Amino acid sequence: MIDLRSDTITQPTTGMKEAMMAAPVGDDVFGEDPTINALEQKAADFFGMESAIFCPSGTMTNQIAIRVHTAPHTEVICDEKSHIYLYEGGGIAYNSFASVRLLHGDRGRITADMIQDNINNPDDVHAPISTLVSLENTMNKGGGCVYDFKEIEKISSLCKDKNLKLHLDGARLFNALVATDDDPKKYGKHFDTISICLSKGLGCPVGSLLLGTQEDIKKARRVRKVLGGGMRQAGFLAAAGIYALDHNIKRLEDDHIRAKAIAEALDGLKFVDSVMPVETNIVIFKLANNALSVDFVNKLKQKGILAVPFGKLDVRFVTHLDFDDDMLEDLIKKLKAI
Ligand SMILES: *Cc1c(COP(=O)(O)O)cnc(C)c1O
Repeated sequence: MIDLRSDTITQPTTGMKEAMMAAPVGDDVFGEDPTINALEQKAADFFGMESAIFCPSGTMTNQIAIRVHTAPHTEVICDEKSHIYLYEGGGIAYNSFASVRLLHGDRGRITADMIQDNINNPDDVHAPISTLVSLENTMNKGGGCVYDFKEIEKISSLCKDKNLKLHLDGARLFNALVATDDDPKKYGKHFDTISICLSKGLGCPVGSLLLGTQEDIKKARRVRKVLGGGMRQAGFLAAAGIYALDHNIKRLEDDHIRAKAIAEALDGLKFVDSVMPVETNIVIFKLANNALSVDFVNKLKQKGILAVPFGKLDVRFVTHLDFDDDMLEDLIKKLKAI
């Protein structure tokens, strides 16, 4: 099977497993797991941020950030295609009692001007208090597209001006960094909190980190505990994260090259209506003749290819660590034969 459903399906490599088994561990709820402490410090330093907290999932790191930055009667501003809105079970309301203002960005990327127009008057008792802006980079639903850092600077300066917090859902931030060559420390400078996933392109079995100021991460520890995310000797998992930060960032380029090759092969095939521009490791294409994505994905499965339906007419492929050039060649051959 050629499995392109997600970059979460990867298996830990031998090197990663060896690093995991060799990890010194302790009780992280007591703050005594040396490997988790090392991972948190390493990730914070990478982005030039003060502190970090290791969590089981990116949903948890995003939801903790939202909880830390909001309160009842407040509002989160984000794009309508955001993971925090679409794919986190209504967590903004459930975990934080906050409202959400949905913007219609360019493939999920919003601008400072759009945000400016959607900040509520804090003196109007009818309206929730605008408190947090959340961006996603790369943008999953936008076909893995990347923000122009200039826009992020504008958004960050608007947020400071208007006293809004700025969070980044960076589940695939490393893909954005590799695609643009941007300095990670610029991200640390402009966002109050950043969520990164180790279990996507970086190839870890489990784990995400929330990065931020010492004060915010201290609050995050309390929220993580109440959500049931306080883990004990989880340093075995953190060791995989340290290994991934050391070995698996630069290789994301290969995933991007292969994704572009898939997009080129799809372009012009008779079952394809259009392919979204590919910037990183996600390929989303629309089916021709209003064919349903669910049916098409079933057809692919019979040919040994796994993908996910991404909306009624759209199909998504994601390239990753366990998808190599031989599989790419085989995939393109199979697609052309359909
Ligand atoms: C995968 C993902 C997350 C986190 O998902 P988990 O499965 O909870 O780790 C968050 N945001 C985006 C954009 C994602 O793709």
